[in-house]
Amino acid sequence: MTDVSSGSALPQERRLVTAVPGPASQELMARKRAVVADGIGTVMPVFARRAAGGILEDVDGNRFVDFGSGIAVTSVGNSAEAVVRRTTEQLRDYTHTCVMVTPYEPYVAVCEELAAVTPGDHAKKSALFNSGAEAVENAVKIARAYTGRQAVVVFDHGYHGRTNLTMALTSKNMPYKHRFGPFAPEVYRVPVAYPFRWLTGRENCAEEAAAQAIDQITKQVGPDNVAAILIEPVLGEGGFIEPAKGFLPRLAEFAKEHGIVFVADEIQSGFCRTGQWFACEDEGLVPDLITTAKGIAGGLPLAAVTGRAEIMDAAHSGGLGGTYGGNPVACAAALGAIETMREQDLAARARRIEEVMKPRLEKLAERFDVIGDVRGRGAMLAIELVKPGTSATGSGSARPGGPVPQPDPEATAALAHACHQQGLLVLTTGTYGNVMRFLPPLVISEELLNEGLDVLESALAGL
Ligand SMILES: *Cc1c(COP(=O)(O)O)cnc(C)c1O
Repeated sequence: MTDVSSGSALPQERRLVTAVPGPASQELMARKRAVVADGIGTVMPVFARRAAGGILEDVDGNRFVDFGSGIAVTSVGNSAEAVVRRTTEQLRDYTHTCVMVTPYEPYVAVCEELAAVTPGDHAKKSALFNSGAEAVENAVKIARAYTGRQAVVVFDHGYHGRTNLTMALTSKNMPYKHRFGPFAPEVYRVPVAYPFRWLTGRENCAEEAAAQAIDQITKQVGPDNVAAILIEPVLGEGGFIEPAKGFLPRLAEFAKEHGIVFVADEIQSGFCRTGQWFACEDEGLVPDLITTAKGIAGGLPLAAVTGRAEIMDAAHSGGLGGTYGGNPVACAAALGAIETMREQDLAARARRIEEVMKPRLEKLAERFDVIGDVRGRGAMLAIELVKPGTSATGSGSARPGGPVPQPDPEATAALAHACHQQGLLVLTTGTYGNVMRFLPPLVISEELLNEGLDVLESALAGL
């Protein structure tokens, strides 16, 4: 029998045995360049060999502390025991029948879990897909079918995927949309409450941003034409922006008043990442629909739309689906991942990660002028890098009459590169490319967390 626990044998220690990238990675990179489209970029130019817990090992034997989780996917760790066990069993039984041809129990079980863990105690139903973008597209299809309306409202700095409709929903041109148009119509973008960059100050941010968003929806679109308001409760690719408290509930209330479907895109923020099952819970928000993917299945491709049964059932029978959506092996992985989150209380682990990391990041912000803002919650944390002197240090905030923080994407790229060279896998993000984000696996040890922060500190000192 396969040793299902082989991944956990990977020593949990940072180790550099060659330059980064080493010779084996360089050789593979040459092969990649020859046959893989240039459009598929690379954050850190090493090839993976093994990964488990908080460590990723490359083909040269270097071991990196993982502050990325494959973009918030391997929250339960790579090759988590329950994921490997359940998928291995599933692989032996059957790999695919197509749920639309002959259904299977794991699909139903995942939908039962989704009904249990998502916010709200109303009757819920789900539909499963392969990727986050596909889930978002289907949420829009469902909202349109339910309301008989077409317009979709999204927000500045929002990210929802790379398919045609989700490119239209996504805010940032480069690299996601550039030269890929024309984009889907009936998409309207309105302001989001971005505290660090709100020109009249953080304290006015929620109220003013909500008023502006609602005014634009009312004047430019007409609430009666709006099928859905779609927002990430913590904006991921836009720069780990936590909308100022009060903003999301105000928009949810506006949606309710006008029969608009309120959709929370929790693809990055969901599944224990922010210290509870879903980031919405922080403000007691109960979305009509919620989209999930990334952390849902421990690394296997799975996504879902979950929501009020009467909304989900608005799409006619046969109107939703896809050949692979809710593949049984991916469903088995999701059941293993959810089991792990529950048994190991990974939401609590995420809160503990915040307790360890955030005070240290705040200290770094006091010491290094380049850090303008520290934000995020749970294990979804970030620092925003700005040109020194353009924001108040640490608690930096755009002040009325004060300097506007100038993004420093060059420093951010240099910092990420320095971390990679020293064995820390970090990712950057943000509309201005000036945010370094931290998304460690929730199962990472505290020792590795602190070691990663040591590396970050010395990389900042060396900038
Ligand atoms: C990653 C992401 C998506 C797209 O998911 P894919 O699986 O890459 O298609 C959509 N929304 C949010 C918030 C995301 O972070």
